[in-house]
Amino acid sequence: MNGRWDSLHAECDSCSRCPLSRSRAAPVLGCGSRDARMMMVGGHPSVADERRGRPFAGPPGRLLDLALTSLGIAPGSVYMANVIKCRTPSDRDPFAEEADSCLPYLRAQFTLVRPEIIVCLGEFASKRLMGPDFSFHADRGVWSERKGVRMAATFHPADAVRGGSVKEALWLDLKGAKALLSGQGPGGQAK
Ligand code: SF4
Repeated sequence: MNGRWDSLHAECDSCSRCPLSRSRAAPVLGCGSRDARMMMVGGHPSVADERRGRPFAGPPGRLLDLALTSLGIAPGSVYMANVIKCRTPSDRDPFAEEADSCLPYLRAQFTLVRPEIIVCLGEFASKRLMGPDFSFHADRGVWSERKGVRMAATFHPADAVRGGSVKEALWLDLKGAKALLSGQGPGGQAK
C-alpha cells in the first residue's frame, strides 16, 4: 500500500496535466491518516497550504483542528485533501477543466483510504463531489449515502474563521459527523 501512496505522491509532484502547473510552487496532495474513517475535502490549496505542504493550513486549519479536537476527534486521525491539488492564481475558484484534470488524484485517495465518511468543505468541493444539482444552501449538513460512503457538505473553515452563524453551522455539521463515527445517526440517535 505504501508503494501506491509513494507513486501517487510522485505523480502529483511532477504533474503538468493542467495549466495550474505553471503558476503553482508545489502541489498539495493531502495529509493525515491513510487509514482514516473520515475524509475532509476542500476546494483547492491556499498560499498557506502550499507553503506548509498540507491542506487547511493557517487560521482555517487551526479552527478545524480545534473543532475536531473539541468533538473528541484527533485531527491526525482524519485524512484531509482538496479537489484540486495546485493553488490557483489570486485564489480564484478552479475552472471545470482543471477540476476534471485533477479529479483522478482524489479518486485514487478515496480508493486508498476507503473512508466511511466524507465531509465536503465549501460549495466548490460539494458540487464537484455531490453533483451539479447539489444545492449547498438547501442541502448543507444533510447526510446521504453513495456507494456505501456517508457524505455531507458543510462550510469551509476559511469561511468560518470570521465566526457567527457560519462557524456555528460548521460546528453542528461536524457534530453530525462525530455522531456517525460513534455509531449513531447524525442527530445523535442510535442507528
Ligand atoms: S491542479 Fe491537478 S491536474 Fe492540474 S497540474 Fe496540479 S496536480 Fe496536475
